[in-house]
Amino acid sequence: MSHVTRSHRLSQSAVDFIDEPYLFSLLEQPAQAGEVRDIIAKSLSKEPLTVPETAKLLTIQQPDLWEEVFDAARRLKRDVYGNRIVLFAPLYIGSECTNDCVYCAFRRSNPNVVRRTLSPDDIESQVCHLLDRGHKRLILVFGEHPRYSPEFIADCVRRVYAVKRPRANIRRVNINAAPLDHEGFATVKAAGIGTYQIFQETYHHETYAKVHPRNTRKGDYLWRLDALSRAMEAGCDDVGIGALFGLFDWRFEVLGLVSHAWHLQRHYNVGPHTISFPRLRRAAGVTLDETYRVSDEDFKRLIAVLRLSVPYTGLILTAREPAELRRAVMEFGVSQIDAGSRIEVGGYTEVGDAQVLEREQFELGDLRPLDEVIRQLMTDGYIPSFCTACYRLGRTGEHFMEYAIPGFIQRFCTPNALSTLMEYLVDYASRETYETGVRLIENELAKLPDGPRKTALIERLRRIRETEERDLYF
Ligand code: SAM
Ligand code: SF4
Repeated sequence: MSHVTRSHRLSQSAVDFIDEPYLFSLLEQPAQAGEVRDIIAKSLSKEPLTVPETAKLLTIQQPDLWEEVFDAARRLKRDVYGNRIVLFAPLYIGSECTNDCVYCAFRRSNPNVVRRTLSPDDIESQVCHLLDRGHKRLILVFGEHPRYSPEFIADCVRRVYAVKRPRANIRRVNINAAPLDHEGFATVKAAGIGTYQIFQETYHHETYAKVHPRNTRKGDYLWRLDALSRAMEAGCDDVGIGALFGLFDWRFEVLGLVSHAWHLQRHYNVGPHTISFPRLRRAAGVTLDETYRVSDEDFKRLIAVLRLSVPYTGLILTAREPAELRRAVMEFGVSQIDAGSRIEVGGYTEVGDAQVLEREQFELGDLRPLDEVIRQLMTDGYIPSFCTACYRLGRTGEHFMEYAIPGFIQRFCTPNALSTLMEYLVDYASRETYETGVRLIENELAKLPDGPRKTALIERLRRIRETEERDLYF
């Protein structure tokens, strides 16, 4: 079904579940130390927090209690995710847009932005460039425009998967695009997408209406809020939610995100796979309203609270943030980052080292190449991972076992992270990164218990080093 004739059928669970007076009332009472510690203890036992419990953490006033939250977030991240960080890159497919979001350079009323959509050949050259740097996971990004129909998006996905380089191809394609109807989600799912990501931007109705004019498609709050429920009903059980921080009070937005996660969990038995929390950035022709600017300290708090509230949901930190800040907040619960990113349409091959504001949706804060980011992660004790095993073995949604099975991380995630890292080191890394990586792999192997799994992993790592064999996973 094309964009023009699409249905306006909402999901079976469609309801505006953001009860503003209730959420505001939760934020009124400052938390007591005793209740905060009980909530932290619940979270450390890996139970998701309710919305009122999350609100309690958000109302903490005492700095020492915040320190306890940070410590718990660090610990929970280590317990649930180990020290892996998954890496991906965005690929902007098109900057055409019929919406008029006041914060975005792609909005239709901005005459100065370059409007462009990648052709199939352009997609191929961008993907070749990304593969030659070592990327294996991409997110395709689109404006909202009749050209970007579900069929068009599905064609782009197939095109990306079809690009082959020596020993390499893209193994997982995620999407960030407009909300679709049921048929549209089924169409993109059939093309083999991983996660479908849609950010509500702000859960606050009045602010939503202020920044998304009503006469635009995105002006319909419920159509967007309900989108990932339709995705679930259409068979996409791997979805990502997000809020654009800086449009409204950050505490309220965290409650919006957690309410959304619970809504999906309750109705579809699966919470979101990821949560994104971009902060507003400078963008061409955009005058930023600073009223709700989120400070670095509050940014750290919101990441830690999200970590504790949704222990099993991946948290994505993007290159909107500057390198040093990314490094500093990573430990509070981030599980995925993008690296070596360019967000100009065609930017991977065309724009050189400088950012070209008229060609991008907003300004990036971290332009370091992938090799440098990987080296830094390893120096800081993380295992950079390109693993895509669960998604390719059908371990998604309700069947996603990463956390449900004791020892899963040690048996599957760490070995897969190490073999994808070894591929990167052998095929793409600079000398310095290679040496840092080989040391890290040796250290990590020493931590794994002896047994058949470890023996098999050591043999696989050898095959990757000495032969052309790639893409070996448990
Ligand atoms: N057009 C689709 C949409 O709006 O959902 C998809 C992609 S949009 C290109 C990706 C996300 O970038 C938006 O959801 C928004 O949260 C974020 N974004 C837009 N303008 C931004 C800005 N100035 N700074 C930071 N993030 C921004
Ligand atoms: Fe279009 Fe998305 Fe930008 Fe809004 S945020 S103007 S929908 S590209």
